[in-house]
Amino acid sequence: MGFRESMMAIIVRHKLLANQIPKKCNHPLEEWMAIKARNTIKKGRELREEIGGSVPDHITREIFEKYQLYRVREQMKYAEANVPFYRNRFKEAGVRPEDIRTYDDLTKIPLTDPNDLAEKSMLFYGVSATKMLREFTTSGTTGHFKTIGYTSNDLISKIDIVASALRDIGMTKKDSLHVMFPMVIAWDPSLMLVGACNILGYDSSVCSEADIEKQLTTMREAKSTYIIGLPSFIYRVTKLLSKEVDLKTLGIKRIISTSEPLSESMRAQIQDAWGCKVLDVWGMTEFGLACAVECDEQNGLHTDEANMLMEIINPETGEHVPAGEKGELVITALNAEGTVLIRYCTHDIAALLDPPCGCGAHFNKRLVKPSGRMDLQFKIGYGHKVFPVMFDEVLFAIKDVIDYRAEITLEGYHDVLTFYVETDNPGKELEKQIVDAVSSIMAISDGLEEDLVAVPRVKFVDPEDDDYKGKTKKITDLRENYD
Ligand SMILES: [Zn+2]
Repeated sequence: MGFRESMMAIIVRHKLLANQIPKKCNHPLEEWMAIKARNTIKKGRELREEIGGSVPDHITREIFEKYQLYRVREQMKYAEANVPFYRNRFKEAGVRPEDIRTYDDLTKIPLTDPNDLAEKSMLFYGVSATKMLREFTTSGTTGHFKTIGYTSNDLISKIDIVASALRDIGMTKKDSLHVMFPMVIAWDPSLMLVGACNILGYDSSVCSEADIEKQLTTMREAKSTYIIGLPSFIYRVTKLLSKEVDLKTLGIKRIISTSEPLSESMRAQIQDAWGCKVLDVWGMTEFGLACAVECDEQNGLHTDEANMLMEIINPETGEHVPAGEKGELVITALNAEGTVLIRYCTHDIAALLDPPCGCGAHFNKRLVKPSGRMDLQFKIGYGHKVFPVMFDEVLFAIKDVIDYRAEITLEGYHDVLTFYVETDNPGKELEKQIVDAVSSIMAISDGLEEDLVAVPRVKFVDPEDDDYKGKTKKITDLRENYD
């Protein structure tokens, strides 16, 4: 780090609430949320009076929800004053901040569609573009690009959650984080993670190459004890590396999977190979890299409820679904200054679990990791819905499958699924295993029975093949004008 960066790091470090988490603390992430709530109660008279006039030592779920609803009202006031999109939206809907007193009141606020954000990103800005410290761009489904702006306070709060999350999974200053994302990924989480580590005083190393020798050397030189990265990439490196060395001897304490759905079969194999737990982190560009972080219980991801209010709704009716039930995840930012998003539809299908958690966290809700994006689902046969993660689940359970891509085509009235599979051990036996595994997915077996889906096809490929390398999407639907 240069002098300027070091000074910046000191200033940012000073502002992090993560540094106020007591040394001995069983649930750093939840404690961090409690600190945030207590600070808000200290500053906000309206909220303080609502909970009985003083700042509580112990934050209960009831108090925490009052904190969240208070922040929704404050965020709405901020949006009315500064964010053109919501100023108009709230006026049209006739909804005012003071109308929001209960969780059910939230449904009075109109939903925001990602397409609105893609088409009019600037109208979501709470400050002028020149005051944004960083702007991220992410592709939308309609071909427009969504631009998300972060002010310095927004960025500090993103670093803060990463810091608390790393504490939560057991990292200390004696540990070293190895960052493992492939080079081709659309935006670079490595930079953000290394930046966060620098500020926090953690050691880190980065290797973006599939070259296993380089991965191994980098980890050994850095004395890595934690790994974070894209699960498909970690899986590939694991498969190749475990032929050379016993990965259990490397002393990795935990592996963190992020930016992609982690299938349970992939998780089991990575855990087996390294002899440590693989924990899932979920985030999205709109709200930050770490929106929800799994604990060792591996039963739902602890969500950053200090900065986000999550709702699960029935996408057809817009009504809230009961705790534990699946629906569309809708998120309201609670402390945003740059891009402000209120009741933003993520198009992710997920569920929320009520506290407590087996780890002892007592007020924080957990997210059952999104099973798939609504816009990434395919319909096959008689309208059966299929998500890419369903194939991950069955295919990565097969030992010899390193990676795969799939295509859906139409032949006559049959939907045809062709799997391009990367393996070291091609042959009839593996082909049969793959066909059986895919056919065991209910949507496929139903389709086969109805005679609307053909028996899945398997082609073994060379990973260096340009045609295969060009397939960046896991599943490509080549049926024309198919709904
Ligand atoms: Zn937990």
